[in-house]
Amino acid sequence: MKVPSKKTLFSSASRLLHTERQTDRQNLTTLFNRYVDKTDVFSWNSVIADLARSNDSSEALRAFSSMRKLSLHPNRSTFPCAIKACSSLLDLFSGKQTHQQAFVFGYHSDVFVSSALIVMYSACGEVEDARKVFDEMPERNIVCWTSMIRGYDLNGNAFDAVSLFKELLLDGRDHEDVDSKGVVSVISACSRVAAKGLTESIHGFVVKRGFERGVSVGNTLLDAYAKGREGGVAVARKIFDEIVGKDSVSYNSIMSVYAQNGMSSEAFDVFRILMNDKGLTFNSITLSTVLLAVSHSGALRVGKCVHDQVVRMGLEDDVVVGTSIIDMYCKCGRVEAARKVFDRMRKKNVRTWTAMIAGYGMHGHAVKALELFPVMISSGVRPNYITFVSVLAACSHAGLHVEGWRWFNLMKGRFGVEPGLEHYGCMVDLLGRAGYLQKAYDLVLTMKMKPDSVIWSSLLAACRIHKNVELAEISVARLFELDSSNCGYYMLLSHIYADAGRWKDVERVRTVMKKRGLVKPPGFSLLELNGEVHVFLIGDEEHPKRDEIYEFLEELNVKLLEAGYVSNTASVCHDVDEEEKEMTLRVHSEKLAVAFGIMSTVPGATVSVVKNLRVCSDCHDVIKLISKIVDREFVVRDAKRFHHFKNGVCSCGDYW
Ligand code: ZN
Ligand code: ZN
Repeated sequence: MKVPSKKTLFSSASRLLHTERQTDRQNLTTLFNRYVDKTDVFSWNSVIADLARSNDSSEALRAFSSMRKLSLHPNRSTFPCAIKACSSLLDLFSGKQTHQQAFVFGYHSDVFVSSALIVMYSACGEVEDARKVFDEMPERNIVCWTSMIRGYDLNGNAFDAVSLFKELLLDGRDHEDVDSKGVVSVISACSRVAAKGLTESIHGFVVKRGFERGVSVGNTLLDAYAKGREGGVAVARKIFDEIVGKDSVSYNSIMSVYAQNGMSSEAFDVFRILMNDKGLTFNSITLSTVLLAVSHSGALRVGKCVHDQVVRMGLEDDVVVGTSIIDMYCKCGRVEAARKVFDRMRKKNVRTWTAMIAGYGMHGHAVKALELFPVMISSGVRPNYITFVSVLAACSHAGLHVEGWRWFNLMKGRFGVEPGLEHYGCMVDLLGRAGYLQKAYDLVLTMKMKPDSVIWSSLLAACRIHKNVELAEISVARLFELDSSNCGYYMLLSHIYADAGRWKDVERVRTVMKKRGLVKPPGFSLLELNGEVHVFLIGDEEHPKRDEIYEFLEELNVKLLEAGYVSNTASVCHDVDEEEKEMTLRVHSEKLAVAFGIMSTVPGATVSVVKNLRVCSDCHDVIKLISKIVDREFVVRDAKRFHHFKNGVCSCGDYW
């Protein structure tokens, strides 16, 4: 007969000790007596430790209780392993019992026992009990500190994790023994605490200790910066470059930093490296991150490649990836392509439905959005906060105030979604633009929360359309309380005064603007060609093909004038003379991007442009005309919505 190993023996022994069958018990005794000294605590300890280490925690606990049944006295090495078993099982009850026994035998203050208890209580979600153990320790080693910090981090008490780390540094101990595990917890906690300079100071410590090259510390640091509480892209890139042995997590994090900061080309570059490196794998997180970058930049071609990749990997049915694709196609102006993906997805969650509804909304297809919404409800998916934002935004883009009002009133009563700032924002915009200014203002006054600048500026914009100076002044006063440095509010107010012929007031506003040195934020437009993103600023001089672009624009301009175009200079500053106004209009970034798009693509191809600000009415007129002259379709995404220009008209019906 093969002699069983000590571990198997004890494991079967402890199991048998718990059985009621006499013969089994006798069997066990024979085995025990033959091979081990079962009265030897050290033998038991090594078995419990072996079992706990090999992730057989229930067996380890059973062995511990068998040992206790034999009335053996556990020693200081017995408890840490037994407690470790309790924490892996998340068995708070046994954990507390073991804690009690440790107390009875006088080992509760032992540094190893206490460390194990801290880990156990934290794992079971009892972080306060963990802290009690920590506080009662007469002496602490670095393992205890790290365990407590990790415990806080695990339980989401990021603030406590960070302050305990500070305490550790001030504890006067030698920081040399702070290990990378502890640092990882602290950094991960930092990323959740919105305190300025925190990540940087921990980062400094990490660099001083030379941890930043380690892949786990590096990745966590990157992630902290990626969450965007603080710090810059350059810092994140430096961390990324210095990580030795980067894995796909490192690549995902740096891509996410780029994607969130609108640096899509950089995100694509990283993605290309990741794709071409055979040693690295990528997953649904990677693909969703790239798709986010695509959505920001409107880089449809890259988006299509990613979509192909997703299909090849069989991930189209993955609800997260599928939803990202829908979002990407909508934001790249291909709402029909989005709908195809949507229809193919077998599993749809609330985000999937919301992405499709939002997509229809931003393209002005409010009717389709409002058709889809009841289908979502009847398929059993409960609309959430964001779904209602999308529904109301769809109504607001199309001026459907009756439907908007109806859903706004139903959202709380029937679906239990309390209206928030965004919903009020949509309603004020919707009512205001439809001409119900007083109703919009009354709604603002009934809000439970403080109206934000979006709400007041929507009302202000509506006041301009419907020429209501009185309400405009009220809105502006509120806006200045919130943010007195936003140039846009002053501009709108001066336009409203100008429309009303109140030139003295126009003068007054302009003087204030000049005094405060306020300037309009620069507009820019993006256009993707063959996977490369081109950026155009107003009156751009930087583009390598600038001469050709301006020449082409000049030719277009001649055709525009022949077609009866008269420039609309109302939307440019009043104090620029007429000729200058015309020049400024001519080189608005969206016009440059459109011209470059026509030049660089085959006849008949659709040109897509992304603009950071709202498209001005002159550019809107011009692009409408161009679409007729060159017989092309243009899709322009501005800060508010999508415009599909075709055959001399725009999908927004000039309502934007
Ligand atoms: Zn313009
Ligand atoms: Zn439009």
